[in-house]
Amino acid sequence: MSAIVAIVGRPNVGKSTFFNRLIQRREAIVDAVSGVTRDRHYGKSDWNGKEFSLIDTGGYVLGSEDVFEKEIDIQVELAIGEADAIIFMVDVETGVTGMDEDVSKLLRKVNKPVFLAINKVDNAQRAADAVEFYALGLGEYYTLSSINGSGTGELLDALVKVLPDVEEVVEDLPRFAVVGRPNAGKSSFINALIGEERYIVTDIAGTTRDSIDTRYNRFGFEFNLVDTAGIRRKTKVREDLEFYSVMRSVRAIEHCDVCLVVLDATRGFDGQVSNIFWLAHRNNKGIVILVNKWDLVEDKETNTMKQYTQKIREAIEPFTDVPIIFISVLTKQRIFKAIETAIQVYENRSKKVVTRKLNDVMLPIIQNNMPPAYKGKYVKIKFCTQLPTPYPQFAFFCNLPQYIRDPYKRFLENKLRENFDFTGVPVTIFMRKK
Ligand code: GDP
Ligand code: GDP
Repeated sequence: MSAIVAIVGRPNVGKSTFFNRLIQRREAIVDAVSGVTRDRHYGKSDWNGKEFSLIDTGGYVLGSEDVFEKEIDIQVELAIGEADAIIFMVDVETGVTGMDEDVSKLLRKVNKPVFLAINKVDNAQRAADAVEFYALGLGEYYTLSSINGSGTGELLDALVKVLPDVEEVVEDLPRFAVVGRPNAGKSSFINALIGEERYIVTDIAGTTRDSIDTRYNRFGFEFNLVDTAGIRRKTKVREDLEFYSVMRSVRAIEHCDVCLVVLDATRGFDGQVSNIFWLAHRNNKGIVILVNKWDLVEDKETNTMKQYTQKIREAIEPFTDVPIIFISVLTKQRIFKAIETAIQVYENRSKKVVTRKLNDVMLPIIQNNMPPAYKGKYVKIKFCTQLPTPYPQFAFFCNLPQYIRDPYKRFLENKLRENFDFTGVPVTIFMRKK
């Protein structure tokens, strides 16, 4: 869980160049581990040991400048609502534009840290030109060049200083977030869960201003629903904006243990659901896929569910060990099963395998399937252990960790899954030198 920083600004000022510079190093590592491609507008970064999530809201605004003009209010409103700090990026080459002034007007009213970042200051002459941005009335500014990196350090120093410390809440109840596209049936699902208001035990204020955990005691289970206030909140923002639902999902996902990814059976597992799914995966959250509105699927035969499941598994490769449940909120079909499964995934995610048992199981498997020799060298794995992290991560100690390739790591992961049940949970494997 980390603080959220949003980058706003009109097109072409260099937002994505800046964004890529900040997240590149980390993402390269994450990509190598899981082997999947990421969307380009959300990522994690850290500076001076402080981690934060970075969102390029502009990345979600499509089209030309005139389209953008209509969207800018929404973009800024989102950033204001969902982020802990805002970086407002402008371009020294073009100087102050009307659109910059409009954005400033909105940002001046905001009660959150705003950093005016003047980009494309590649040399000293341009640093002098930057003075004109004082006219925006946002006070102090930071000059930088996203292309060569100069000035970014000063901006980040100032930024991480004001970010709230978002501590992981120590709370032994499972925290679930219900996420998915607009109209998938999320609110209906939550209402069905809640039933009558008397099931709400208490409202606990979360660690940050926006997040509210609401505790439920239902079906004999106790759990917290995360950020449902956000889901129930009525908003004037158009519901069908992809970036809106992604922004909203980011916060809910970061604050939960298990994501219930709801999709509409009549629409399938499309690109937007996929974005949300990988967002949860990237954050190492437990995942349950709920295929809702199953009542609307006509002419169901014995194989319909199986084929549907197969299609989703193909879409989520290589992380296919995820429960997929067919529900109908309308008829209340398998609602209970959904929660029961989420609890199971929560338990899988917090599972700790004792080192001795882990080695008793894994070492013989490794004996019989040694890593392939690389450049004529043999890799010997000597022992393994689960790391004391809140989600499953394993370290395998060996003589030449750099020679272990991804396919072998995937083999190890599959064997861990076969033997210890990590269904619904991303598993990370590190090779360490011993
Ligand atoms: P976005 O639309 O705000 O995301 O802007 P992009 O990151 O796509 O950048 C727009 C253009 O500005 C690209 O051609 C970048 O190469 C260029 N650009 C970005 N940062 C800098 C910079 O610091 N200096 C210069 N000279 N050009 C930059
Ligand atoms: P949200 O935007 O994801 O919160 O979706 P809503 O809960 O507002 O549901 C969108 C629409 O789908 C509403 O008209 C619901 O009544 C309908 N809906 C939700 N679940 C089901 C279901 O299981 N079956 C059918 N037929 N309709 C559903």
